[in-house]
Amino acid sequence: MPLFRQAAPRLHALRRYLSTSPQQDLVVIGGGPGGYVAAIKAAQLGLSVTCVEKRGALGGTCLNVGCIPSKALLHSSHLYEEAKHSFSKHGIDINGDVQVNLPAMMKHKLTSVSGLTKGIEGLFKKNKVTYVKGAGSISSPNEVSVDLIDGGSQQIAAKNIMIATGSQVAPLPTVPIDEQVIVSSTGALKLETVPEKMVVIGGGVIGLEMGSVWRRLGSQVTVVEFLDRIIPGTDKEIADNFLRILKKQKMKFKFGTKVVSSRKEGGKVILDLEASKGGKPESMEADVVLVATGRQPHTEGLGLENVGIEMDNKGRINVDDKFRTNIPSVYAIGDVIKGPMLAHKAEDEGLVAAEIIAGVGEGHINYNCVPGVIYTHPEVATVGKTEEELKEEGVEYTKGTFPFMANSRARTNDVGGEFAQGMVKVLADKTTDRVLGMHIVGPNAGELIAEGVLAMEYGASSEDIARTCHAHPTLSEATREAAMAAHSKPIHF
Ligand SMILES: Cc1cc2nc3c(=O)[nH]c(=O)nc-3n(C[C@H](O)[C@H](O)[C@H](O)COP(=O)(O)OP(=O)(O)OC[C@H]3O[C@@H](n4cnc5c(N)ncnc54)[C@H](O)[C@@H]3O)c2cc1C
Repeated sequence: MPLFRQAAPRLHALRRYLSTSPQQDLVVIGGGPGGYVAAIKAAQLGLSVTCVEKRGALGGTCLNVGCIPSKALLHSSHLYEEAKHSFSKHGIDINGDVQVNLPAMMKHKLTSVSGLTKGIEGLFKKNKVTYVKGAGSISSPNEVSVDLIDGGSQQIAAKNIMIATGSQVAPLPTVPIDEQVIVSSTGALKLETVPEKMVVIGGGVIGLEMGSVWRRLGSQVTVVEFLDRIIPGTDKEIADNFLRILKKQKMKFKFGTKVVSSRKEGGKVILDLEASKGGKPESMEADVVLVATGRQPHTEGLGLENVGIEMDNKGRINVDDKFRTNIPSVYAIGDVIKGPMLAHKAEDEGLVAAEIIAGVGEGHINYNCVPGVIYTHPEVATVGKTEEELKEEGVEYTKGTFPFMANSRARTNDVGGEFAQGMVKVLADKTTDRVLGMHIVGPNAGELIAEGVLAMEYGASSEDIARTCHAHPTLSEATREAAMAAHSKPIHF
């Protein structure tokens, strides 16, 4: 056989093993909401862009194991609860029992996820972003090495590199996760049966959302929380109101309690608990334990040490206000840097960082106007300063509240039931009346908060909101009435 015919396959194999690509203006490592949005925006601005993602699917934590699958299950389980407990109140009788078909519910969740992740691949093609499937690491300030999912590796020369590798579950050493009976949020999104007893460790957003899903589907859920309250950092009045509602929904809470150890016995998990400030120990049994105590930046294997990228004491990558690390060609955005771990915060950072790299504009992010939402029922949504923060900062403020009980749309949607629970709270500067915060616990709070965000971005006063015409009957009239209450007096309460 002629030599070249033998050599060709080997050369091909070698190329597959180590290939190089033309220099890119930007290589983004991580295809989550921060990374894929940055990649698309940069390409739209005329840069040559490659996005490297090791998961085998775009969309990151958010689309694959976070926002989207959790919201699919929250919505499906809410529909089930409505059908089981609320339909009859609305004059809808169901003949026969309403039952959960868990495999079908999970299939719906997966269909939503796969449709959206494939949609991003389509957007990459449309915007000419090169998608490389593999784990990226920074070999020099202008080069990314990729261990390709299909084998081999690739070197990509880059004028600029953006780290958008997000976050991962923070382990709790006393309760090691096996994703079967001791699960993280990822395992809690794909349980195959409804556990009879579920213990959720951590009364934050993820714990309360996933706890709500399984409670609605039939689990007895107990939340064990180290602190004496849920959702720390959220306006206390709103958090207390929310807690009352969750308790009415029969979610149980153990506050001021820490888990000191765990063990598996006969298919159950036994947790040993102690009062956080010291006290009598006790044990608790569960079929499934959800560890929801937080997430940590994802930086292993990135080769940060190769180029000496600096991090803070929480393992987050340090950046300046232009998202630049201490290495001028390397940027970082999203969960891997400081700030709230939220998809829309990562997206906004991706947009602004792409503009900075492309040299078009000097965008910045107003972190005070990043909303936070908990997608339970009712929802919780907040933006801006809490009352506690204003007190601590010595800011004089006015406060207006309005209960959904007095809102006609909330009442018609669910007469006297859960839908009409909760409130809107508007906080404004006492001297200028400028809106400083809006906090909502109530139906569709996650949609309603957009009005508060916009008002704050535009420096509106509570009087501005109060004098703006709101359609009737809508839930948004409650935000208007809360603004009226902050400015002078509400009409309907
Ligand atoms: C259960 C749950 C529910 C959530 N719900 C919400 C919600 O409703 N709203 C909200 O705003 N936020 C929510 N979040 C948070 C949200 O998912 C994150 O804030 C968001 O995904 C962060 O985006 P990111 O782009 O920074 O990182 P990520 O989404 O984590 O994406 C980073 C990507 O980088 C990839 N990667 C890591 N290292 C490498 C490497 N070396 N090479 C190549 N690729 C790499 C990872 O595989 C990942 O796909 C939720 C999170 C969880 C866990």
